[in-house]
Amino acid sequence: MTEVGLFVVLFVALFIGWAMGRKSPAKKSKKDKNSVPTDYFRGLNHLLNDQHTEAIDAFVDSLEVNSDTFDIHLTLGNLFRKKGEIQKAINVHQNLLARPEISQREMRMVQLELASDFMSAGLLDRASRLLLNMASTARKSEFQAEILTLLVDLYEFEQSWDKAIQIGSELIKESPSKKEIKRLAHFHCEMANEMQKKEQWKPAVQHFKSALEVDPSCVRASIGAADVLNSQRRYRDAIKELKHAAEQDPEFISVIIPKLKDSYQRVWGSGGYIKFLEEQNQKKPTTALIMALVQHHMEVDKEYAEMFLVEQLRKHPTIRGFKELINLQLGDSQGHNQQHLAVLYELIGQLVEAKHKFQCRQCGFAGHQLHWQCPSCKNWGTVKPIHGLEGE
Ligand SMILES: [Zn+2]
Repeated sequence: MTEVGLFVVLFVALFIGWAMGRKSPAKKSKKDKNSVPTDYFRGLNHLLNDQHTEAIDAFVDSLEVNSDTFDIHLTLGNLFRKKGEIQKAINVHQNLLARPEISQREMRMVQLELASDFMSAGLLDRASRLLLNMASTARKSEFQAEILTLLVDLYEFEQSWDKAIQIGSELIKESPSKKEIKRLAHFHCEMANEMQKKEQWKPAVQHFKSALEVDPSCVRASIGAADVLNSQRRYRDAIKELKHAAEQDPEFISVIIPKLKDSYQRVWGSGGYIKFLEEQNQKKPTTALIMALVQHHMEVDKEYAEMFLVEQLRKHPTIRGFKELINLQLGDSQGHNQQHLAVLYELIGQLVEAKHKFQCRQCGFAGHQLHWQCPSCKNWGTVKPIHGLEGE
């Protein structure tokens, strides 16, 4: 709906609200009951002049709070917050809270909105005090899941991972949604990374394990655990974790391959590593797998490496694959041919460099780095390596 359309609907809603509101208070005189408040006409005038904010202000003044107009006040407050006029949203919601006639249920609804206002205004202390107070007094109320969700949002924003884990665990007991389960697993991974930075390996591994207990599909936890195990020189255990990560989500194979190669080379040489690459390439060929295999074949038999690459490119053409093919040809060529190939190699190299490597499956945000939380839509675990002709 366009903004103008929204205001027309709001205007109709306000009129109905005013009409209903004027019926309820029995104490008012007959004259009061039948008159339209001047604030209402003031609002209408602002609306006609496209002064939307002033229009809402006037409408708020014209409406008295009662059970019939409660929802309209709540909607107006939210509208202010969405327009970025947080102080006005806070005023409307606090005005509602000050009314003795609102019920306990309505009071909690307003408090939830007020907590969102505080968070939007960056008043995180006030938001957390309000929400914690609600969580302790409104236990098992119908709003418990909403209260806990807002608290988790707040601790996530503050990057207070221990608190986010505590409340997030309560939340998935209360309302076990897929999104919250995924998010909680990533909070454990964030804690694990903090431990890792302090070289506290044991609690770091424990947090990665907790992440996997919460969400067995959390590929980040397996990759993270492998990194810690590598730091502890537990290469065999790291290999197990990395192979598990490839099973959890084969889309991350380009992230897994270099780590796996490193771990294998430290214990068993490249035999098991090549076997793993070949098995994975049989299941689902990707550029990263093909490139890793070409690299290996190059060390043993350059001619075979070239044949293998051409065969793979016929089945799965990728820009990075073509770049590698030119590189192989470059070594065998001379004179003008070599110069031309060198120019082509450089141009394709620039093209590959310019392409993003990772993309959010939720909002489409793309970048050169892997972010476990999308910088744009803030979802966890939605950014993955790009595949296909231009990707991995
Ligand atoms: Zn996103």
